[in-house]
Amino acid sequence: AKHLGGSCFQFYSAELPARNTDRLRLENELRKAIAEGQLQIHYQPKLHLASGTIGSAEALVRWQHPTRGMLLPGEFITIAEETGLILTLGEQVLRLACVQASQWLHKGPMAVRVAVNMSVQQLRQPQLATQVEDVLRTTGLPASLLELELTESMLLEHSDTVEANIAALQKLGVELSVDDFGTGYSSLAYLKRFPIHSLKIDRTFINELDEQPRDAAIVRAIIAMAHSMNLRVVAEGVEQQSQLSFLRNQGCDEVQGFLISKPVSASAFTRLLESRLYS
Ligand code: C2E
Ligand code: CA
Ligand code: CA
Ligand code: CA
Repeated sequence: AKHLGGSCFQFYSAELPARNTDRLRLENELRKAIAEGQLQIHYQPKLHLASGTIGSAEALVRWQHPTRGMLLPGEFITIAEETGLILTLGEQVLRLACVQASQWLHKGPMAVRVAVNMSVQQLRQPQLATQVEDVLRTTGLPASLLELELTESMLLEHSDTVEANIAALQKLGVELSVDDFGTGYSSLAYLKRFPIHSLKIDRTFINELDEQPRDAAIVRAIIAMAHSMNLRVVAEGVEQQSQLSFLRNQGCDEVQGFLISKPVSASAFTRLLESRLYS
């Protein structure tokens, strides 16, 4: 509340339930956090099973809050979406992730593709592809080392702007993947229409792989379908050795999850790359 001018805030707090004042405070704090560089990126490796190398890193935003410590996206992404702050947040995450990937490429230890989560609001911005192109140019990162994670619902929008953005991103040479694949939507027609490179099997299918024969059947079917369409398959939320073995046996291309590594800071990720390289 201290960032808000007193009298105005008092007025609203008398009228609205406490939840709204909490949200207003969070919104103002988040605006300040974006402006003052309190947002950080943590990176989680996707392990390429055939080669045993780290093929890419998912960029996951973190908020180093001045008094409340490190906040996870679950605590602020919704409010960012509702207030439109997701646009500046998303651009900042994109830029930070590309700066980092460019450093890994040019200063070592190795080239790693960076995967950035997109909000539907970013995809609806007519200038998105221009923004991505500018970020790639200013950071010196080749487009092939940037991957954008989209969700199924975004690809089912039937919006001209969204379709134009996807075509323009494809033309730039950026990789596109479908996040949380298999949740919520029965239509697969978009896979035919869009230039997708990979599918990420949602972790709800991975969680109970050992106990639920149907989950195992779904995972097998997704891998077979993806491969028949020449798409890479990534499984997320891999926590157990038994899940990894199953995915390896089924020919899943990459795995991501706490079993391999939790999301870690950029410097810790660099050390992870170095230790894998020289061990
Ligand atoms: P997501 O894209 O599905 O990201 C994967 C989430 O699963 C991450 O949570 C990650 O920490 C967590 N995770 C990874 N491995 C495991 C595992 O083995 N077990 C379990 N239980 N969880 C695992 P996180 O970092 O809290 O992010 C949550 C969500 O917030 C993300 O889900 C994504 O939808 C969103 N998000 C994160 N960063 C950004 C961003 O920069 N922009 C946008 N628009 N959304 C973001
Ligand atoms: Ca993701
Ligand atoms: Ca996901
Ligand atoms: Ca998810």
